Amino acid sequence: MKTGIPKEIQNNETRVAIVPKLINQLLKKSNEVFVETNAGSSSFFSDKSYEEAGAKIIGVAKTLYEQADLILKVQPPTLAEVEMMKNNGTFIGFLYPLANKEVVKLMIDKKITSFAMEFVPRISRAQSMDALSSMASIAGYKAVLLAATSLGKFFPLLMTAAGTIPPSKVLILGAGVAGLQAIATAKRLGAKVEAFDTRPAVREQVESLGASFLEMELVKDAETVGGYAKEMSAEFIRKEHEIIGKSLSKSDAVITTAQVFGKKAPALITETMVKEMREGSVIVDLAAEQGGNCELTEAGKTVVKHGVTIVGAINLPATLPVDASQMYSKNITTLFSDLYKAESFNFEDEIVKGACITHNGNFINEFVSKNI
Ligand code: NAD
Repeated sequence: MKTGIPKEIQNNETRVAIVPKLINQLLKKSNEVFVETNAGSSSFFSDKSYEEAGAKIIGVAKTLYEQADLILKVQPPTLAEVEMMKNNGTFIGFLYPLANKEVVKLMIDKKITSFAMEFVPRISRAQSMDALSSMASIAGYKAVLLAATSLGKFFPLLMTAAGTIPPSKVLILGAGVAGLQAIATAKRLGAKVEAFDTRPAVREQVESLGASFLEMELVKDAETVGGYAKEMSAEFIRKEHEIIGKSLSKSDAVITTAQVFGKKAPALITETMVKEMREGSVIVDLAAEQGGNCELTEAGKTVVKHGVTIVGAINLPATLPVDASQMYSKNITTLFSDLYKAESFNFEDEIVKGACITHNGNFINEFVSKNI
């Protein structure tokens, strides 16, 4: 088998699917590993470091795609990239099939077997393959740094000869992987942190990080079997607005991370609520690409509305390309080793069945085949 790692072509994508130190993992099951020229340059991994790790550098993307039986990527491929892939080849990377229907249909036509990183089941055995979690963790960390640099205030309490500066108040909405990392980061910077989530199980995790949990009566069956949040009723969201609103008007920085799998992100901060916020306060909206948790968020832009800076953050993991690539590489090589442990893919296995989107001209993942 020949494995190929192309350079990512999406705008502002700085990550690479495999870092040099993990090329050896691929060589255990691949006869050759091809890396496109400069594939790692935006994450500071040189062509030379890939060669030293045993990969062969290929100058032209088309040549790499045509020769490789397996393609490993970060971003979903474009139609043009799938065109270049071998018929009956294999792809592993983020895929977002419902947002990339033409791409997956072409994969069906070309009988390409595709595995989507975002569909790896979130079970204990698959923890080291969980790219959603590793990337969310980076986003949560970076969101707090963005908030801190956009805010005209210190995060920590400072006692100086020039007076005492009180700590900033930070509110985190949604305390999943990104939210918990945001809490931990804001605490490390010395802020006073409050958080809220619809899943009752999260309260303890929030409190163990030293933040306080906003009081609101929660719904008992707020999460799915897979641990994701269920969509809340309009009545719940209305009450949530009241609770959040009280804390919002006292907060200096707000990080929003709330998502409901397969749905538009819940609108947790309305324009009226923004108007009640302090002048100079900051919202960093990590759900910007899913419609935003704040009504005024513009994905990919930083805007100032009613005196509040609103950061519509997208692809924050690409702003930390070295660690993001290392973590993603670990996730994808672990999945790779699991998939290729036998002669052929074992479709009885929960991970294979869950992560596989297309195989031999058919859709495999149940959710995707029902919803595409
Ligand atoms: P996510 O990105 O889908 O959502 C972020 C958070 O937003 C979640 O905590 C969710 O409860 C919250 N949310 C949704 N609607 C909200 C609302 N109206 N108001 C406030 N908050 C709201 O979530 P995620 O970070 O990907 O994690 C989802 C779940 O998966 C968690 O239970 C996590 O523990 C679990 N998980 C399990 C594993 C594993 O077992 N291997 C790995 C990672 C995550």
